[in-house]
Amino acid sequence: MTGAWTKCKSVLVTGSSRGIGLQLVKELAERSDRPARIIATARDPASSTVALQEISKAYQGVHMVTLDVNSQESISSAVQEVQSIVGSEGLSCLINNAAINISTDLNTVTPDAMMTTFQVNSVSPLFVTKAFLPLLQTSASQSTGMGLHRAAVINISSILGSIQANWGETAAFKAYAYRTSKAALNMLTRCLAVDLGPKGIVCMSLHPGWVKTDMGGPLAELTVEESVSGMLSVLSTLSEDDNGGFKDYRGHTLPW
Ligand code: NDP
Repeated sequence: MTGAWTKCKSVLVTGSSRGIGLQLVKELAERSDRPARIIATARDPASSTVALQEISKAYQGVHMVTLDVNSQESISSAVQEVQSIVGSEGLSCLINNAAINISTDLNTVTPDAMMTTFQVNSVSPLFVTKAFLPLLQTSASQSTGMGLHRAAVINISSILGSIQANWGETAAFKAYAYRTSKAALNMLTRCLAVDLGPKGIVCMSLHPGWVKTDMGGPLAELTVEESVSGMLSVLSTLSEDDNGGFKDYRGHTLPW
């Protein structure tokens, strides 16, 4: 929907040092209907991500903020910094994108791989969302209806987290830690949708497709450009019908 992103005053992306997160920041910054403030967060934005630094220099309103989603201290200081960037307008859209994928089949999975993956992919999105909630509520309190113009939490999930789809041919990719962590993230989306939907904050899970990144690998079906332009287009039509939903980058509803 043309113009939808202009109505979204601010977007925060976690894990924007590379891959899909970096491309989300880049495409948002390049749009003619872009949000006024784009907050690109990364574990170490100052030293590790030349591409991100170039985007923030080239485009006004792109702010780099340090955020390690596993650290409560880092989350708290990021909230303070973001508060000073967005001011009384609050935060319109939080995209929980940061994640890891440790290779784990039945032989190789370990308790440590499960716990580490759950921390980043399932637990951190909850505590990042909780910490930014006051800023999301500030934005939500200034509008009516539901969508980008008001407030949203987008959890970047995966079809690999779909319990229903993990059967037959699509079950070939073995990833105990990653699949279970994304299934948990999907439940987090539903729990948040129940609690935050009535406050005007729409929450959904979004699958980017199989994408050529460090995580997706070179054999993946989609370029980051194809995936991210699809996802931004899906998000541009975000409405109350999407609250508690699970869609892919083409806008197709996915099975839980
Ligand atoms: P990448 O591995 O390319 O990038 C992962 C990003 O997450 C990096 O920016 C990384 O930062 C960041 N990250 C990891 N741990 C932390 C942390 N503790 N704090 C802050 N940032 C962190 O992955 P993709 O870009 O491919 O994936 C992005 C999202 O899309 C993920 O949620 C993934 O599960 C999902 N997805 C990807 C698919 C694909 O095919 N690529 C398919 C389906 C879903 P750093 O540089 O510091 O390590």
